Amino acid sequence: MGEVDVNTERDKKYIPPGMVGAYFRRVADPDPFVRDIQDEPSAFMLYADICTKCGVCAEECPVYYGQPSARMHPVERSRQVVQLYRKHATWWGRLKNLIWPKPDFEEEDAELFAQRMYECLTCRRCAVYCPVGIDHSVITRVGRSLVDYMGLTPPALAQGTDNSFETGNLEGASTEAMIDSVEFLEEELNEETGLDIPIPIDKEGADIYFVPPSGDVLVYAENLLGMAKVFYAAGANWTMSSRAFDGANFGFTTGNNFSMRFEAKHYIDEAEKIGCKTMVMGECGHAYRVMKHMAAAGLWWGTLPFEITSAFEYTAELVEAGTIELDPNRNDEKVTYHDSCQFAAGCNIVDEPRTILKAACSDFEEMDGAGATQWCCGGGGGLSALRSAHDFRMDISGKKKLEQLQATDAEVVSTSCLQCRTQLKELVRHYKLPQKVTGVHEMVYSSIVLKGENPLNAEDAPRLRSGETPSAEG
Ligand code: SF4
Ligand code: SF4
Repeated sequence: MGEVDVNTERDKKYIPPGMVGAYFRRVADPDPFVRDIQDEPSAFMLYADICTKCGVCAEECPVYYGQPSARMHPVERSRQVVQLYRKHATWWGRLKNLIWPKPDFEEEDAELFAQRMYECLTCRRCAVYCPVGIDHSVITRVGRSLVDYMGLTPPALAQGTDNSFETGNLEGASTEAMIDSVEFLEEELNEETGLDIPIPIDKEGADIYFVPPSGDVLVYAENLLGMAKVFYAAGANWTMSSRAFDGANFGFTTGNNFSMRFEAKHYIDEAEKIGCKTMVMGECGHAYRVMKHMAAAGLWWGTLPFEITSAFEYTAELVEAGTIELDPNRNDEKVTYHDSCQFAAGCNIVDEPRTILKAACSDFEEMDGAGATQWCCGGGGGLSALRSAHDFRMDISGKKKLEQLQATDAEVVSTSCLQCRTQLKELVRHYKLPQKVTGVHEMVYSSIVLKGENPLNAEDAPRLRSGETPSAEG
C-alpha cells in the first residue's frame, strides 16, 4: 500500500442541506490526513510535542491492563499516527518525503495499522491520569479516520454508517418496522398496566423529541418502555420520529468527521420539523456526546432553536422534584452501576443516573473506582458492535471490568449505554457470572408508580427486566 487513498465515494452521493461548504472543503483538499490533523489539533500537538514517555497512561489503560505488551501500549499506538502526521503535516516531513519518498505503509502494514486503531477503546481514562493531559482517544480517532479513508474500517461499522446514510439508523430498519415495533410495545404497556400509555410517533408540535439508540426500539425495549412511563407520569407532550429514531453515530466511532456531522444533521433537521423545545437523547453515550458537545454547543450549525439534554438529566430532575414516584421495593435485589465512558468521562453525567437508581432500587452499592474515572467495560469505541473483536473484548479489553464484576456481590449491574450493556451482557454470558445487566430506565420501568395502574402486574414488574420483555422481534 502506498500513499493513503481517498475514499469519498460514499460521501459524494450525499450532500446534506447545510453541509455544502463542508463537502467542497472535503473534496478540494487532496490530502485527507492533513485536513483531519488540522481538525484535531490540540491533543495531537500536545502528544507530538510534550509526551514524556512516563508510561502512566499505560498503567491506567484497560487494554494495556488486559495485555501488557508493546502492541497494546497507548504511546506506541499513538506513535504510529504521529509518524504519519509528521510526514504529511510538517514542512520538514513534506520536504523529506519529496526528496526521499516512502510509502505510508509496506505490504500488510495498513491492515495491521487498522487493527491497532481498533485496539483502543477511546475511553479517555489515559487523559485523566496523564500528567500533561494527553488524550490518546483523540489520536486514535485521527488514526481511525485514515483507516476509514483506506476503506479498512471494520465491516460492521462501515455497514452501520452506510445504513445511517440510507435510512437514518444503523440497523437499516424501515419506517414500517419502527412503527410496528412501537405499536407492539404500546399493546404490551396496556396489557401490563391497564393504562393507555402512548408512544407517539411523528407528532408535530410536540415539546419533547425523544431519540434513543435503535437497539432500544428494536431489540431491548425496556428502556423505551421506562421512558414512555416517565413521560406519561410527567404529563409530557412528547414524540419519537419514524424517520429518525436512532441517535447512535458511527461517524464519531470511525473518525469520519463528515459522516459524524451528516448523521447528526438528520436529527437536527427532524427536531426542527417537529418544532420541539427539547431533544432528549436516550441511553447511548457517544450519541449524546456528539449532540451535546458539537451540535448543542453551536459548533456546527450555530445556536439551535431547541435544547438538547439526556434522559438521565430529564428523569433525575423529575425524581428530585417529586414529579414522578419510584418505588424502590419493586427492585429489591442488590444493584450496582457501571458508568459509560462517554456519559461519565465525556459528558460528566455521573450524579444523575445514581439519583435515579437510588430512588428506583432498595439496595444500591457502588463498584470500586466508580464515577468519571471508572474502568471501561472493554467494548468502548464501537468495539462492542464488532463480533470480530469478541475474543479481544472478553480476554483483553474487558479483563479489568470482569474482575470488578467478579468482586461485587451485586445481583444487578445497571449501565447507561447500549454499547456497555452489550459488552457487559457478553462478559456475564461468556464467564457465566450470576449478574443481570440492565439499562437505567429499565429499572425505572419496573419501579415507577403510575396512578390507576393494574396492581397485580405492578407487583410483578421486576420479572419484566433484563431482556425478559418481548420486543416486536420476539
Ligand atoms: S501519561 Fe502522558 S506523558 Fe506519560 S507516556 Fe502517557 S501520554 Fe506520554
Ligand atoms: S483511550 Fe482508553 S483504551 Fe485508549 S489508550 Fe486511553 S486508556 Fe487506553
